[in-house]
This record gives sequence, structure tokens and C-alpha cells, in this order.
Amino acid sequence: MARRLQGKVAIVTASTQGIGFAIAQRFGLEGAAVVVSSRKQKNVDEAVEKLKNQGIEVMGIVCHVSNPQQRKELIDKTVKKYGHIDVVVSNAAANPTVDNILDTKEETLDKLWEINVKASILLLQAAAPYLSKGSSVILISSIGGYHPRATMAMYGVTKTALFGLTKALASEMSPDTRVNCIAPGFVPTHFADFLVKNETIRKLIEDQTLLKRLGTAGDMAATAAFLASEDASYITGETIVVAGGMPSRL
Ligand code: NAP
Repeated sequence: MARRLQGKVAIVTASTQGIGFAIAQRFGLEGAAVVVSSRKQKNVDEAVEKLKNQGIEVMGIVCHVSNPQQRKELIDKTVKKYGHIDVVVSNAAANPTVDNILDTKEETLDKLWEINVKASILLLQAAAPYLSKGSSVILISSIGGYHPRATMAMYGVTKTALFGLTKALASEMSPDTRVNCIAPGFVPTHFADFLVKNETIRKLIEDQTLLKRLGTAGDMAATAAFLASEDASYITGETIVVAGGMPSRL
């Protein structure tokens, strides 16, 4: 594997399983020191163990992305140990309802906004003073941001917001920091269990792709590693759809 991220320090939120874990793993295998985090200490410990066993330089920190103290600790401990930050991947999201938007309770709307959008902004506010020249921010959105589906409509709208946030932050954080976004298609992680464990729905989704398969966490990690690396040094403010050719945008 290429060592494109040698010497870089990368924070990945919600990274003890699924897409976040795969990104941390890929970054680590490409030479980065990675900081993994999620809400549960046990999950953090297990992720750290797995990555260490692959020879990856890793630190684990408990961080619920909407907890201000834990966000601060994530940044502070990273800077204390490594001195600076080169890559931030904001990957955490919640999808707490299948209700229509007009039926969604206010507290659920707040939670969706808080975890899926606001926490990314606040994390980047905290990280900004320590971001190196040439650093890279990656927001994890969703194909659903282009076409919010009926059962996950408001979740989709928060993911649409990340496309705008990517453009706005790319401008605000230039020229020293690039800001890009990944819109994954369907990946069989715990998050997507309710969709892909149903054979009929799974087949339906596969048929909507041109490549006739679901995505893998590794597909998303490969794209994140590219965006974090110097190979993407002239790319900012962009969203890359990694969805096997599912309909998204021109
Ligand atoms: P996943 O496999 O369910 O993993 C979720 C991870 O996030 C776990 O490590 C979990 O650990 C952590 N987590 C959950 N809530 C958190 C919070 N509030 N703060 C910090 N950590 C939290 O999920 P995934 O499928 O990899 O999804 C990752 C991202 O990809 C999300 O932004 C999602 O919207 C996006 N995405 C996924 C798909 C898909 O098909 N899977 C498609 C499009 C977009 P703890 O339980 O220990 O917190």
C-alpha cells in the first residue's frame, strides 16, 4: 500500500466501526498517526487494539460529537500528543426516525441538526487553530443528500446541508486547508442494517447501482485517503459520490 499519509496526524470521528473505522485503518496503513473516537469506551479500546495489531500509530478517545467537553478533549489530547492536526474526518451521524418531515418531533429535528451538521462545525472551530498548512477536512455526507428518501427524509436534508457546508468552509478555510465531502451510497454497516438486511430492499438497492453491488467501507476509505493525500492537493470544495453509479447529480 502507498504511504501517502506518512507523518500526518488524522482525527476521524465515529471511527470505532463501519466507515469511520475503515477510514482510520486506511489512513494508518498509509502512514498516518490516527485518533479514533466514539461514544463508548469499550468500542474505543477494541478499535485501538485492532489498529495497534496492524502496526498503526493510534490513540483512542471517547467523544460523543455533540458533547462539548469531549470534543475539546479530542482536540486537546491530539495536539498534546502530536503537536498539530493534518486531517479531520467528520463522520458521525444519527438517523433516529423514519417519520415524514412534517411528522418529525422538534427534539428529533434538533438531534439531527446537532449531530449531523452542528457538531461538525463546532469540532472544526476547535480544530482550526491547530490545522497545519496543507491540511484536509473531509465531511461524510450521503447519496441521500441528493435525493432524500421517504423513510430517511430529514436525515437526507441534513446530508444536503453538508454539501453547502463543504463549499462554504472550503472558501473560508482556503488556502491552507482543503475541505471536501464524500457522499457514500449504501454500505452494509450497522447503520444501514435496517435496509440491507432485508433481501428485497437489498436487491432493489443493488439494482439501482450501475456496478450491481453495495459499497464497502473500504471503498469509502480509499476515497478519503485520496482526498487527505497530496494526490488531491488541487481539489477543494468538492463532493465525491462513491455509490457505484447510483443516480445522484450530473
Ligand atoms: P456505523 O457502522 O453504524 O458506525 C457508527 C460509528 O459511529 C460507531 O463507531 C459508533 O460507535 C459511532 N457513533 C455513533 N454515534 C456517535 C456520536 N454521536 N458521536 C460519536 N460517535 C458516534 O455507521 P456507518 O454506516 O459507518 O456511518 C458512518 C457515516 O457514513 C455516517 O455519517 C453516515 O451517515 C454515513 N453514511 C453511511 C451509509 C451506509 O450505507 N452505511 C450511507 C451513506 C452515508 P459508538 O456506538 O461507540 O458511539
